Amino acid sequence: MGQVVSAIKLARSTEATANCNYEQCATQDSMQMANNLLVRRQTFVSLAIRWNVATIMIWREQNKHMQRLHFLYHELRTEDSSYSYVVKSSEFSRQMKLFGEMQRATQSEVVPEVTFDDGHISNLHLALPILQEQAVRARFFITVGWTGRRDGYMGWTDLRELQAAQQEIGAHGWTHTLLTHCNATQLQTELKDARLKLEDELGAPVPTMSLPGGRYNKRVLEACREAGYKQIFTSIPQLQRSSDEELVGRLNVVGGMSLEWMERVLDPASGLLNGLARKDKVKGVAKSVLGDVLYARLWALVNRSEPQSDEPA
Ligand SMILES: [Zn+2]
Repeated sequence: MGQVVSAIKLARSTEATANCNYEQCATQDSMQMANNLLVRRQTFVSLAIRWNVATIMIWREQNKHMQRLHFLYHELRTEDSSYSYVVKSSEFSRQMKLFGEMQRATQSEVVPEVTFDDGHISNLHLALPILQEQAVRARFFITVGWTGRRDGYMGWTDLRELQAAQQEIGAHGWTHTLLTHCNATQLQTELKDARLKLEDELGAPVPTMSLPGGRYNKRVLEACREAGYKQIFTSIPQLQRSSDEELVGRLNVVGGMSLEWMERVLDPASGLLNGLARKDKVKGVAKSVLGDVLYARLWALVNRSEPQSDEPA
């Protein structure tokens, strides 16, 4: 750039003082040199812009097909708990350090993503500071009817605080009723009304939701689409192979899961995720054979559920 400016200045000053043929020739040469430099510079800038655009497009394309594994959390506590859906905050901190590092590493084969279901108050008080410290962005799926009404769950001011901290808010039904049990009117409340209420309160689109209890069928999926959701998060532990997949699987995190195990599950070569997906299919058969009520009772016994705890994810 400095050369271009010098050449133009030289050309102009030479032209201004030129009064003989020799000097006129010199002026023409300088002008030609300046023009050549300008053309070269414009070509360079044009190539640089094209290179940047191409790089962004390639990055987006690569990112789109980057495999992601979504983890599902519910509640954090500072102390150990026998309730399996509680993760100790110190453990969560170690997990987010790993996840943050893997998200920023360009060579990660599988990128971990964080989601929370239900809207427990610990999501704000314990999880958010850790997420911010490790620069990890999470999705929080909120049971709308519990917001500001149920003890231990976030209110609208809390959700706005999460939103202001660049975290994403999605829906998790209105009453947390299993959607497979709902008639058409109930589905309207659980899905569309929940989305509209979140959008009204938060002033932002809510295109994502997670299925209470992980239950769905064709009718539920159709109702989710009609209610305006673009992505539906399940509780089936499987990889998301493209960022625009409609159904997104998740791995439920329970207390006591070791960091080493989580690292292994994020390594496709370990085969752990395939084993988990097979187990989930067996669980699906058990649910259909036993029915939701009996299955939920057995689940509560096995997982030492607490009186106000969530149903099986
Ligand atoms: Zn839930």
